[in-house]
Amino acid sequence: MDRTAVTTEAPKSPWGSGTPAVPACSLTDVMSEQLARQLDEETTLLFPDESPDTTSDLMLAQILQMQFDREFDDQLRREEKKFNGDSKVSISFENYRMVHPYEDSDSSEDEVDWQDTRHDPYRAEKPQATPRKGFTGKGKNITTKHDEVTCGRKNTARMDNFAPEVHVGDGLGMDLKLSNQVFNSLKQHCSSEQRRSARLHEKKEHSTAEQAVDPRTRLLMYKMVNAGVLENINGCISTGKESVVFHADGGSLEEQPIPDEVVLKVFKTTLNEFKNRDRYIKDDYRFIDRFSKLNPRKIIRLWAEKEMHNLTRMKRAEIPCPEVVLLKKHILVMSFIGKDHVPAPKLKDAMLGSEVIKNAYYQVLHVVCNFHLYQECNLVHADLSEYNMLWHEGKVWLIDVSQSVEPTHPHGLEFLFRDCRNVSTFFQKRGVSEAMSVYDLFNAVTGLNIPVGAENEAEFIAEIVALEKRNEGHVQRRGKKTFQVVSEDAGPPLKPDADD
Ligand code: ADP
Ligand code: MG
Repeated sequence: MDRTAVTTEAPKSPWGSGTPAVPACSLTDVMSEQLARQLDEETTLLFPDESPDTTSDLMLAQILQMQFDREFDDQLRREEKKFNGDSKVSISFENYRMVHPYEDSDSSEDEVDWQDTRHDPYRAEKPQATPRKGFTGKGKNITTKHDEVTCGRKNTARMDNFAPEVHVGDGLGMDLKLSNQVFNSLKQHCSSEQRRSARLHEKKEHSTAEQAVDPRTRLLMYKMVNAGVLENINGCISTGKESVVFHADGGSLEEQPIPDEVVLKVFKTTLNEFKNRDRYIKDDYRFIDRFSKLNPRKIIRLWAEKEMHNLTRMKRAEIPCPEVVLLKKHILVMSFIGKDHVPAPKLKDAMLGSEVIKNAYYQVLHVVCNFHLYQECNLVHADLSEYNMLWHEGKVWLIDVSQSVEPTHPHGLEFLFRDCRNVSTFFQKRGVSEAMSVYDLFNAVTGLNIPVGAENEAEFIAEIVALEKRNEGHVQRRGKKTFQVVSEDAGPPLKPDADD
């Protein structure tokens, strides 16, 4: 390859072909085809779009200017980015750009041109207002404010004022006309929906407050754990109308042993339900003088106290029932009926074979009849049913005795009759043929001899009520039972608490 050939191989100069620029180099370099190729590539990179015709100075100047402008714009774009950062409101440097329009492959298409938002296609055009005189136009072309089209458009625009949660669709952008009738019923629906959702929300808030324990109670519970009385409070076993029952691991108390598993019966401090139960306590002579003096929160504590006393009595008579561990205000801690965190089933849920259910019946009979609950404890359960009897280790356990009263209670015998009815009906339904009728059971429990010939419940109850009336206030002997107003076991007076 001679020197001329090398020159022709050399890349074209951007300054035209007039004076070919031949770089000074050694013969070896000249001989290197690789160098020639490299130079060629570099030139192509520098002027990518260059037309082969580079003879015109003007053209060259323009190309260079263009290149310069682009670099300037690039720099501007970087500065713009840096200036705006992540800010939601950005400043555009567009006006300073050299190349217009700036074609930037990076510029995102979804970037909203904020200037365009002045026209919101989803916002209805303001309907033309009718002048004060009440009409527009003249003669035949008169349009009043009652005009159907004008009104319809106005109504559509007014939908904009509905609450944000009301989805009015994007019909606002169209020329939609709503008649007054449609608009009014829509409006009415919206406001009633709003009221309904407000009510629902309120209810939800209220119900959560009812489900969970209130902060005061929570504090009491924490204190028990802190004091080591409880090891752990595990979870809720039941939420009833009047109480919430929690399972807990027993800790230790100096004076007394605490079972490994206990329950916390938290009497609810919402009073709605207890209002209905006034009659169980306000006529109970053990609480009578205290009941009237107390504020509602303290009355709730009376329920807990009442359950404690009743359980203690029952335990003394060796009736299977939870053992009281501790009473703290409206929280009663007692032994857990069940095992390994699994509470014993209620009698209504226990799957018992026919022999076992018969056995359960006799156990109940033994408890209520053989002078135990009624005669020995001097108690009427007053809510005895398959819901408040648990089946555990082959025994029937009585629970939920906060409402239990003494037989001398003005309605004591009526409550007892109801208990008997629940027991008879349940066991009869479960196929225990030996189950006594409610009347026989009642007479057996009380030792009374109310005639059952007619088997008319109303008559029977009338007899009971008459008996209660006669019993009221004095001591009477009936059969095996002595009705007495006993003053023992009314429990210690409620100590005033420091924080009340
Ligand atoms: P309520 O007055 O809300 O009916 P209960 O005393 O009947 O309160 O307790 C509600 C439920 O909690 C019971 O049906 C029973 O399943 C469970 N429970 C209550 N006390 C105990 C306990 N000592 N051991 C195991 N479970 C219990
Ligand atoms: Mg119950």
